[in-house]
Amino acid sequence: MKTVVIGGGVVGVTTAWYLARDGHDVTVIERLDHPAGESSYNNAGMIAPGHSFAWASPRVPQILLQSLWRNDTAFRFSLSLDPDFYSWGLKFLRECKAGRAHANTLVKHDLCRYSQEKLNEIVDQTGIEFHRESGGLLFFYRDPAHFEQGRRNMQLLADNGQHFDFLDAAETVAVEPALATIEGELAGAVHATSDETGDCHVFTRALVDHCREMGVEFAFGTTATRMVMNGAGIAAVETDKGAITGDRYVLALGAYAAPLAKTAGLKLPVYPVKGYSVTFPIIDAEKAPKVGGVDEGMLIAYAPMGDRLRMTATAHFAGYDTRSTEKDCANMLKVARELFPDSIDHDAVEFRACLRPMTPDGPPVLGASGIENLWLNAGQGHMGWTMAAGCSRIVTDMMEGRTPNRDTKAMELGRFQ
Ligand SMILES: Cc1cc2nc3c(=O)[nH]c(=O)nc-3n(C[C@H](O)[C@H](O)[C@H](O)COP(=O)(O)OP(=O)(O)OC[C@H]3O[C@@H](n4cnc5c(N)ncnc54)[C@H](O)[C@@H]3O)c2cc1C
Repeated sequence: MKTVVIGGGVVGVTTAWYLARDGHDVTVIERLDHPAGESSYNNAGMIAPGHSFAWASPRVPQILLQSLWRNDTAFRFSLSLDPDFYSWGLKFLRECKAGRAHANTLVKHDLCRYSQEKLNEIVDQTGIEFHRESGGLLFFYRDPAHFEQGRRNMQLLADNGQHFDFLDAAETVAVEPALATIEGELAGAVHATSDETGDCHVFTRALVDHCREMGVEFAFGTTATRMVMNGAGIAAVETDKGAITGDRYVLALGAYAAPLAKTAGLKLPVYPVKGYSVTFPIIDAEKAPKVGGVDEGMLIAYAPMGDRLRMTATAHFAGYDTRSTEKDCANMLKVARELFPDSIDHDAVEFRACLRPMTPDGPPVLGASGIENLWLNAGQGHMGWTMAAGCSRIVTDMMEGRTPNRDTKAMELGRFQ
């Protein structure tokens, strides 16, 4: 059976991997001339079940309101007339109740843990190396009350099997000597000991090679423009290089899934939320950080990736605009100088931005679409690197008529209808 996977990020490529292992012919359509060039390139590299909280929570409406007049918040808005933004936003606000945030977080957490297991399996089967660092992640705080609140929040995940150590300033620096630069200001840190970091782009590129060995074809430099319907199913994907046909289609376009779904009359509640990244060459490996972390006061994440350091921040509602300027990244540049003054080259920084494919509630949209032969693997939001292997395994299990290893009700499109 031939399957066409639309999108060559980490989600599309892991889907292709599982389908090829099940013996199917697979073609992946990707508009760039290489895989994982968008969100799957730009992320903070965290494989982080210990950070799988739903964004929609009771605190968020107030933070969103403040962001309208303050420019130091982690959220930003650009004026929008897009009706899809308002319809998504209303759904998001409905998810901000405590009970919903709790339930959504547990779905995400379970999926993230499952996905970490599936990632390990892929790595065992392929031997792929991707600058993986498995020393945990440090979520650190400068304000004691904020630290206390962070500890309390973590209890929900701790009650569900996630292990955390709670560290004072000296213990934090013992885990990550690079943070000695701010030891005097640290209130403490939460150490998520089984979380990790790794370069999603390097992983995905290497998995493409393994997919090719199994016969997967990659149509790079090919933009899908429309899905062509034939009765209750998809007959072809129209592209700028002509039509591509298959028996089944998987939509794995990240933040771009909703516009293509629309061409088949399907409304997907996946909206783009822009995030900015800065990447620095490491010039002193001894002094550079060895594990990833999050400055919880500034909501800035960072991770070492081989000989580079990646930092990411900000949730900017700006539609599909992916521009990035030095001004957009000013907070990160400041924090980078403060945390890592000598170990990275501050003058050779690379600026980028890309889009998180966010659902209103947080879990992705997996499985049947309501269109006969169209399957969904999208909406992994701010955790798509962590969730990719697990989501792709679940979707391919569904496609093959196997019962997925997880309860998928809260991950299916039907939950929004
Ligand atoms: C700033 C930032 C930091 C993040 N940090 C983390 C993190 O630390 N840990 C984590 O787990 N997740 C993180 N994420 C989220 C994660 O990066 C994404 O959820 C994940 O990469 C989504 O993968 P994807 O394959 O669905 O999308 P993408 O990687 O965006 O892939 C979609 C692909 O579709 C292609 N495409 C788009 N339109 C078309 C078209 N019409 N035709 C053909 N091809 C098309 C694109 O070129 C792209 O390659 C972060 C995201 C951002 C933005």
